[in-house]
Amino acid sequence: MAHRHPLGHRPARRPAVGTRRRRRVRSSRRARRRVTTREPLDSSLVIRTCIGCRERAEKSTLVRVVATGDSPVTVVLDRDGRLPGRGAHLHPDPGCLELAQRRKAFGRALRVAGTLDLTSVVEQLAPDAGHAPPARPT
Ligand SMILES: [Zn+2]
Repeated sequence: MAHRHPLGHRPARRPAVGTRRRRRVRSSRRARRRVTTREPLDSSLVIRTCIGCRERAEKSTLVRVVATGDSPVTVVLDRDGRLPGRGAHLHPDPGCLELAQRRKAFGRALRVAGTLDLTSVVEQLAPDAGHAPPARPT
């Protein structure tokens, strides 16, 4: 007597039910970059670059210059930091002033294409070595 073993009896391996659909979460939301050009009112820790020597320094150690007027554009020192308009910063140093002039950094920094009248700044920053600055009406 031969027992017929039912070999066909395999443990039914169910195919894993992997029909779970993976949803791809596409982040379509773009992070909007906010450009803030406002500076804090406290100017003690604000760092600016000197347009002359290109060194960074605390804003309080630099002087601000502002372009005013149209033609010619006049650059004036903004000692109180209150003048409107586009400003630039530099050390109150004749050397930095000279560097800035040579590099035409004023025009670049102040976004002025034409000629700049720097007389006022030069008068106030240049050392009184050699030539006496012309008297300014007060
Ligand atoms: Zn400088």
